Amino acid sequence: MKPNIGLLSLVVAACGAKGPQNQEFNGAAAYEYVAVQTRFGVRVPNTPGHRNTGNWIEERLRLTADSVEVQSFLHVTAEGDTLELRNFIARFRPGDPNRIIFMAHWDTRPTADKSLNIGHQMLPVPGANDGGSGVALLLGVADALDLVPPGLGVDLVFVDGEDYGDFSQDVDVLIGSRYFAVNLPAGYQPLFGVLFDMIGDIDLQIYQEGNSVSGAPEVVDRVWRAAADMGYSRTFVPSLRGPIMDDHVPLLEAGIRMINVIDIDYSYWHTTEDTIDKVSAESLQIVGDVAMALLRQ
Ligand SMILES: [Zn+2]
Repeated sequence: MKPNIGLLSLVVAACGAKGPQNQEFNGAAAYEYVAVQTRFGVRVPNTPGHRNTGNWIEERLRLTADSVEVQSFLHVTAEGDTLELRNFIARFRPGDPNRIIFMAHWDTRPTADKSLNIGHQMLPVPGANDGGSGVALLLGVADALDLVPPGLGVDLVFVDGEDYGDFSQDVDVLIGSRYFAVNLPAGYQPLFGVLFDMIGDIDLQIYQEGNSVSGAPEVVDRVWRAAADMGYSRTFVPSLRGPIMDDHVPLLEAGIRMINVIDIDYSYWHTTEDTIDKVSAESLQIVGDVAMALLRQ
């Protein structure tokens, strides 16, 4: 599927949403970025799909951002495996003290432990939405900022090793964001930040997440207000849901005002069914429009 933007605008208008005046984020191109990632295969650390996808993300960023920093590091898991991990930090206007940070994880989960079919639970998650959509969104933002540079500093951070281990035990998860949180650029004090995770689902409803509302309520207000101003309140639903342990938490703990934009009601979450047919260009378009509005305000 390769819908063009004109068609997308019509579809969005038919749903009653206004959208922005100048739609500079390209949802169809972002959808294609999800497709590229799934063609690389799963992005489980230490696999060829992971290495190749990381190289591709870095190449894309070198074409668009003013500077790209790679944080390469090793992580030894509870089981004694050594993971080769990389965070990518793409910076626009790197010298500007007024900055906004956007983040997404680019790895995918090694075990589809929520698959109903027990035989599938040891297989990896394809990660079209969980991993793929956040990366696609940030790459689309990079393209838009390359065309029209921002009026303030922007950092797009792609973290690794979010989804490797066991969330219930807090073991071998959020690895890249924790590494980033303790290896921040000197004097790093962004104005605010947004983590994007699982934002490409065809049936997209994003509720306000508990840790975000308790940790940085003013950022939640800003994001949901931006969405409402564009007529996207049916997607960015202004009501509270429970807290989720995700990559924004280490950043909040490091003193950065960072929230999570996530649609947790995704039936294919951590299953082998998290495939490209569950993702839509229209959903990516809505979240991309909101992301750009935050940067252009
Ligand atoms: Zn996940």
